[in-house]
Amino acid sequence: MDMAKAKQKANDLLEQFGISDPYINPVLIARELGVQVKFATFSQEFSNVSGFYDVDTDTIFVNEEEYPLRQTFTVAHELGHRILHKDWAASNQYRVLLRNDDEPKDSYEKEADEFAGNLLVPRFLLDKYKQLSKQDLSKLFAVSVPVINIRLNKEYGIS
Ligand SMILES: [Zn+2]
Repeated sequence: MDMAKAKQKANDLLEQFGISDPYINPVLIARELGVQVKFATFSQEFSNVSGFYDVDTDTIFVNEEEYPLRQTFTVAHELGHRILHKDWAASNQYRVLLRNDDEPKDSYEKEADEFAGNLLVPRFLLDKYKQLSKQDLSKLFAVSVPVINIRLNKEYGIS
């Protein structure tokens, strides 16, 4: 597992696109990279899926019935797989991102989450705004409060 690489890749993208203010829109970043992002209603069979990345068409599919903030995270997470794990994503080892997934996450999932957290809530912007309440941070960065909590804990040990 290489969390440092996941973090670095996220920060590289922010720098590449000159992003210096929240909120960060992973859909725009993905599309700039040539990745299609499609919001779709999934069939009943896949209604518990948040989203997935399709290597053949270089497309991230997002379940549009998911909470909007969760959709944003899903796009960033799947973009992480595309950037960090393209070979794995093309293999039958790949797993779609489930809603309310309580299973322990493997290293690919943890890396994609790390990438997403660092892309959407980067350290340099947290440094600037961390005096705000968690609710305000959630609004500013357009991520859920649990994601803010994870980022504050990882960067500053704040729980
Ligand atoms: Zn995943």
